[in-house]
Amino acid sequence: MQTYWQNFIDADWADGGAGRAGVVNPATGAVLAEQAMADAADVDRAVQAARRVHESGVLTDLRPVERGRMVQAMGRYLLENRDEVAETLTLEQGKPLWEARREIENAARYFEYYGNQAETLEGRSIPLGGGYVDFTQLEPYGVSAQVIPWNFPLEIAARSIAAGVAAGNACVVKTSELTPLSSAYLARAAMAAGLPAGTVNILCGWGHEAGAALVSHPGINQAVFTGSVETGIAIARAAAENVVPCVLELGGKSAAIVHEDADLDAFEGDIRRGIYTNAGQVCSAMSRVLVHESLHDEVIARACAVAGALSVGPGVDRTEPGQGMGPMVSEAQRDRAAAMVAEAERAGARAATGGRAMNIPGAFLEPTVMADVTPDMAIAQDEVFGPVLSVIPFRDEAQAIEIANGTRYGLVAGVFTRDLDRATRAARRLRAGQVFVNEWFAGGVETPFGGYGRSGYGREKGREALLNYVQTKNVAIRTR
Ligand code: NAD
Repeated sequence: MQTYWQNFIDADWADGGAGRAGVVNPATGAVLAEQAMADAADVDRAVQAARRVHESGVLTDLRPVERGRMVQAMGRYLLENRDEVAETLTLEQGKPLWEARREIENAARYFEYYGNQAETLEGRSIPLGGGYVDFTQLEPYGVSAQVIPWNFPLEIAARSIAAGVAAGNACVVKTSELTPLSSAYLARAAMAAGLPAGTVNILCGWGHEAGAALVSHPGINQAVFTGSVETGIAIARAAAENVVPCVLELGGKSAAIVHEDADLDAFEGDIRRGIYTNAGQVCSAMSRVLVHESLHDEVIARACAVAGALSVGPGVDRTEPGQGMGPMVSEAQRDRAAAMVAEAERAGARAATGGRAMNIPGAFLEPTVMADVTPDMAIAQDEVFGPVLSVIPFRDEAQAIEIANGTRYGLVAGVFTRDLDRATRAARRLRAGQVFVNEWFAGGVETPFGGYGRSGYGREKGREALLNYVQTKNVAIRTR
């Protein structure tokens, strides 16, 4: 692997004013490579480059189909280099290689989906009677500032860049300190696609330095963030002072409601996908299972069997779909999750399986199932962001909905039942931006995704997300 990775500003590779930082392989604890760290001056250069692109009209004067084709070409570049990008992603982030490959495919899918829609951003005409012609047009904001987390660095950056550029914006992307390396391929993709210099700028830097400088920069017009609630609040505050709109996709504490008539054989697959994908570091993870009391012991036993069947080890060795689980992104995140389990045990919960840091090098946590959890415990209220499932029994439908809605979050929720009337009733009552019925993660890049409550606001994915990147202009013409 390349030992030193630079930032990408105005189509040029650049060192960082804040020096270099080591990027650690969480499967071993060893330093993989060094990353250039941007300071506020680097951020300023990137924003100026993006502004120049915007103001020159080089993107917005293009026929939208041409811009859309370039966006799609970025996705094709990722697919052509899928194995190399996936290996870099696994080495810096920890996820199994097959999950990393899937992340590249999903990232490419965003470029395909939004690239396709560049030419569909149409306004409307508004009748004003004789003597006037009036129409609206959807114009890009200009410079989109995007702050990216470490859990799906490629996919999350891709969804913002794809929609942003398809709509005609230039982008400045701040990657996470923990996982900056694989994002260099997004810069290479932008070059390979022939996008004008300065359209896509990708830099890494410390959150409090480069991240804060980016969202408070007077040259940006819009901000997008995925990550923790605390940082989301800081970003919303900076955006408010900068008077730019922002989209926040924050965490979740999402619940699956499992009724007596649920298909438990199928649900085992949902447990595997829902909480052990990416070692549970998924904002829409199925971190709570609310199960009808008659099935409680059986669901605990099945969840323990799912957890026990996972082979846990370095992501690079896990190449086949469904195979095992990798480390968490860092020892700090692993220790935080293990401490939340220990606190839950002190509060009266029980680890039915797992719960401990593994006694091997790297940031490994045992796949965990927590029983005897009550809805008010911290483990049932706060995001663990690790492979920790909390199981809580319920008496009846009303209580299940009350528990599901009883956290500060509201990202996604699920209902497992053969009774469609009960499922659609729950879908109306669940306070979440997405409701899955009988399949966790049902949907795709086409389906709008985003939070209620402290899970944030605005939508990513789907047509809705594209509309985050445009503003409406009205043109009224007096014709006589
Ligand atoms: P974070 O929210 O602090 O970091 C996400 C991104 O924000 C990084 O790029 C970081 O550099 C940047 N950032 C940090 N402070 C900033 C600031 N003041 N201004 C601008 N940018 C800033 O996440 P973290 O500290 O790495 O993880 C902590 C917790 O966040 C996790 O345990 C998890 O609960 C949650 N998290 C959620 C998601 C999600 O997808 N919803 C993703 C990552 C982390």
